[in-house]
Amino acid sequence: MSARILVVDDIETNRRLLEARLSAEYFEVIEAADGAEAVRRAREDAPDIILLDIMMPGMDGFEACRLLKADTATKHIPVVMVTALDQREDRIKGLEAGADDFLTKPVDDVALFARVRSLLRLKVVMDELRLREAGRDSDAEIAGDEFQGGHVVVAGADEKSARRFAGMLPAPFDASPCWEPLEALRRARETDLLIIDLTSPRFDGLRLAARARSDAETRQLPILGIVDNDDRSGMVRALDLGVTDVIARPVDPGELAARARTQIRRKTYADALRDRLEESLEMAVTDPLTGLHNRRYIISRLRQGLDAMERSGERVSVALMDIDHFKRINDTWGHQAGDKVLRGFAERLKRELRAVDVAGRYGGEEFLVVFMNAGGDCALEAAERCRAAMAREPFVLASSGESLAVTLSAGVAEARIGDDIEDLLARADSALYEAKSSGRNQVLAWRRKAA
Ligand SMILES: [Mg+2]
Repeated sequence: MSARILVVDDIETNRRLLEARLSAEYFEVIEAADGAEAVRRAREDAPDIILLDIMMPGMDGFEACRLLKADTATKHIPVVMVTALDQREDRIKGLEAGADDFLTKPVDDVALFARVRSLLRLKVVMDELRLREAGRDSDAEIAGDEFQGGHVVVAGADEKSARRFAGMLPAPFDASPCWEPLEALRRARETDLLIIDLTSPRFDGLRLAARARSDAETRQLPILGIVDNDDRSGMVRALDLGVTDVIARPVDPGELAARARTQIRRKTYADALRDRLEESLEMAVTDPLTGLHNRRYIISRLRQGLDAMERSGERVSVALMDIDHFKRINDTWGHQAGDKVLRGFAERLKRELRAVDVAGRYGGEEFLVVFMNAGGDCALEAAERCRAAMAREPFVLASSGESLAVTLSAGVAEARIGDDIEDLLARADSALYEAKSSGRNQVLAWRRKAA
């Protein structure tokens, strides 16, 4: 996995050293000598990871990290802080500034590459989501900075150790201890973070982590592994297996809470991106007001129907429906009343149609229904059911209690060999026109009118 890494350190020798080792692993390395330059290069060169020295003259690493994490253009780039001394206060201060991880100088190669690989995997997923997000015109920035707490399952070898670690996470965390691997796996499906004690020989925590990774429902779940301080290979194995972050024993409660917060915050952000992605896929085919399909979608389904007819002779029909005197409703009762009528109409439409019929909002108060595998008689019958359902029951306005009698007119046409979409819709439209001009509240088929 190749990537561009920004190495920030005020001492040139340190930068040279890191560069040599990273280049040997085919990483592309760019450099900055202080906090301000780091922020600038991060914006300009879009690195995949930033290795950030803490002690620097001028702007130090904490301040640079805060700036990077506050800027939309750089906040998604993982930051690994590099500390000269393994100080608890530094680690917590760094995590609170938004750092994703820590390394202690002199930087150990094995630890460095394991961290870098793990953060890169994560970044690939996030970049993919962000890329799709960028395709939409979103002015609402996804929040995710405000920490709201979250549910944490803490899996340990026995009740005592699981409870001890869970006890290190006070509110707003909601931490529950668990000492049964299968139970932990089951509960992980409904949690925001899984913490696993990987240090007990009586408990195969790595197996639990691997199973959580391969389960579709927990594949994206952050996992924080507790490892022994001197067990470097255990740490590397955990990260390579898909554990998202590790913390060394003896576990410092403040650091555990800070790391848990980082993991949950990142998950909240990723979940929000995924939700919005799903929503935007849905929006591409759905009319937001009525929940019916939109014009683009219904036309594409009609095209498929006509293709199927050309190929295998399946019959296809359409009904073009229009709410009678809709403008009058809007003018008299306001747009909210008009919207209510449109939504109510859509509901009745869904109730009366078969599952295979495809209904969409064609324009303002005009709706198009495509009847797959159905001749004109069948479509006429269905459209008539819709008309009757509208006429049967008035709409009641919530604001005034006023009841509105609303009717619809529709024109039905069956596709003929050689039809294109415009031909077919023109016939349905001409039948609709006939229905309107000869009294409204009725459904007419095109061929009847022609007869
Ligand atoms: Mg320094």
